[in-house]
Amino acid sequence: MESSVITQVQKEDVQVSPKTGQVSRSSLKQPRSCNIFKALFCCIQAQDDSKPPTPPPSHQALLESQENGMVVKQSEFSLLPEVEAQDQGKLCVVIDLDETLVHSSFKPISNADFIVPVEIEGTTHQVYVLKRPYVDEFLQRMGELFECVLFTASLAKYADPVTDLLDQCGVFRTRLFRESCVFHQGCYVKDLSRLGRDLHKTLILDNSPASYIFHPNNAVPVVSWFDDVDDAELLNLLPVFEELSQADNVYTQLDQLRGH
Ligand SMILES: [Mg+2]
Repeated sequence: MESSVITQVQKEDVQVSPKTGQVSRSSLKQPRSCNIFKALFCCIQAQDDSKPPTPPPSHQALLESQENGMVVKQSEFSLLPEVEAQDQGKLCVVIDLDETLVHSSFKPISNADFIVPVEIEGTTHQVYVLKRPYVDEFLQRMGELFECVLFTASLAKYADPVTDLLDQCGVFRTRLFRESCVFHQGCYVKDLSRLGRDLHKTLILDNSPASYIFHPNNAVPVVSWFDDVDDAELLNLLPVFEELSQADNVYTQLDQLRGH
């Protein structure tokens, strides 16, 4: 079985309080163990947060990521097309899917918002998808404020139909899937330098710090979500993004939000 369909899940997550800007870590519930689930959705990696973060690799290293022991040469190109007319002047926000906007499972969920058929090795499986509370309101406003890009380490055969159902207003200008990630030290990393956008005007919203380990200073962390109906993270993040949308330099603005 290939390595997985949904994305990185870790023992701990980093969270920035939308009110205070303070960065904190919180323990998370772990998703159910399921091999086929892992294969479809994610790179499961228990990261030891006691170790210092791995420094970003050199540019050459980025171009020669390793996958299954094979060195994969990646040509220099932009993952994103030219900025569309309606997004001129807006910052770019890369938004994760699993455990950030939705939670999916092969185990039947009676109150699933979507049920998506996904073919794996010749067999069709039903994937049950729960929408995070306030995701509709969040995406609508984010689409007004930013050039929004879906970037997931999940496979397109799962993530694309889920996004069709989730994003009915077409907020996401571009969708990037696993093949657009860099496979680095066992994880799929979203390398923002390959987007073709000014990094000073690019943000990433992701529940997994491993996803943005090359660009931690562009990140707005969000706690992983599985099924908490009282979760209000997306709603609480909107004022943060309203402020960030006006930034000339996201590094400066995020430093201020972190209280530095
Ligand atoms: Mg995720």
